[in-house]
Amino acid sequence: MENRERAKKIKMIIMDVDGTLTDGKLFVLPDGEELKSYHVRDGLGILLAHLAGLKTGIITGKTSKPLEIRAQKLKIMELHQGILDKMRVFEKILDKHALVPEEVAFIGDDLGDLEVLKSVGLAGAVADAHPFVKKYCHFISDYPGGGGAVREFIELILKAQDKWSVIQEKVKSLTDVSDLT
Ligand SMILES: [Mg+2]
Repeated sequence: MENRERAKKIKMIIMDVDGTLTDGKLFVLPDGEELKSYHVRDGLGILLAHLAGLKTGIITGKTSKPLEIRAQKLKIMELHQGILDKMRVFEKILDKHALVPEEVAFIGDDLGDLEVLKSVGLAGAVADAHPFVKKYCHFISDYPGGGGAVREFIELILKAQDKWSVIQEKVKSLTDVSDLT
């Protein structure tokens, strides 16, 4: 099946964090706190997905307070941190939102994402994902983790659903998008 056909059915987009929404690098401070950076283009992409009526979620193995703050700001509906078994959480999310796997898109970068990637309707990998993971994905972004890959993935879905031009109009009517992303 073509990616466009797969993308048409998507109602929810779930993302990995480290190596997907970030470049995977951790700056470890002397007190053990870890700093990472996020891309504003991905942030706007998530905002666009919400404007289009799509649901969003995050499933990540690590736990970080800044991520909680960012997820709240972006109004990400499902935030699951410290998850070793991503598949179990994925199934819970399906149940809660009454979705089937074909209606969910997932984007990730490493082995921990593989089981979910194999299950979803649209599986995406960042450009610098683990080569083994890429083999199981329908879509490989031109952009690396933390560098706009999530944005490209979301745009693919919005364009397939013919929502792209409407969404651009909606963004124009928002007063300050930069403050929202
Ligand atoms: Mg990762």
